[in-house]
Amino acid sequence: MSEIAYVNGNYAPIAEARVSILDRGFLFADGVYEVAAVIGGRLIDNGAHLARLERSLRELRIDSPLPMARIADVEAEIVARNGMDEGLVYLQITRGAAADRDFGFPADVAPSLVAFAQKKNITGSPAAETGVKVLTVPDLRWARRDIKSTALLAQVLAKQAAVEGGCQEAWMVDQDGFVTEGSSSTAFILTETNVLITRPNSTAILPGCTRNAVQLIAKRQGLDVEERRFSVAEACAAKEAFLTSASNLVLPVVSIDGRRIGDGAPGDTSRLLRRLYIEWATNAAGAG
Ligand code: PMP
Repeated sequence: MSEIAYVNGNYAPIAEARVSILDRGFLFADGVYEVAAVIGGRLIDNGAHLARLERSLRELRIDSPLPMARIADVEAEIVARNGMDEGLVYLQITRGAAADRDFGFPADVAPSLVAFAQKKNITGSPAAETGVKVLTVPDLRWARRDIKSTALLAQVLAKQAAVEGGCQEAWMVDQDGFVTEGSSSTAFILTETNVLITRPNSTAILPGCTRNAVQLIAKRQGLDVEERRFSVAEACAAKEAFLTSASNLVLPVVSIDGRRIGDGAPGDTSRLLRRLYIEWATNAAGAG
């Protein structure tokens, strides 16, 4: 963890950064968050992340404590103060701390904004070479998964089940047997006929920023991209599979529930899309 955090207008060493125990984020997970990657000291695809933040806030009727352009300034300041070349910037906005613990929205309470940085080697991740193993688990989440809420208990349990099963990510599965998404990533498969499949955006999944960019890059490469649901059985039989997220970019999936995907090594298309995404992210189109 890097040193300097932002809390409601102040920059402070992380060990001294504090919010109230009455903060509704702490009591009710009544808040939203964003995570954007930093590569070469620049925020990647941050316009898309801030647009999603604004949408999450609107859907929950939480006022933003700052205009989005000022939030971008806070993020840039966090990158600078922490001397971060590569890693992640985490942002969280909650409905603030009221005097009473009451479920209804409090009147005249200022929302709370927190940001901090996490240094991480994203572009040189060893997992990009080895690929990751996925475990499928039932999707236990609420009905508004399109909102990037800090209520992440189902994802915490999903990821822990994956770790205990010797895997690096969990793919959550709806009641009909279709994959929704990863615990903290979007799920993609490539069919034997080279069609890239990912689930359409809806209230069932988070609209991934990396998902969006990767789809555009894939189309530019002449790949067919189809947005539809896919089952666990179809995923296990796929030619390739991969996941996307701001924190992992594009990572090949080499097994699902212990079944090898393709020949059990990162697939060519997954590797290509990772390389092209990093190229896109580090040129002017992806930065900012
Ligand atoms: N789905 C879920 C549930 C996530 O937590 C994330 C990570 N934010 C994603 C998908 C990927 O979104 P993004 O590409 O915007 O990081």
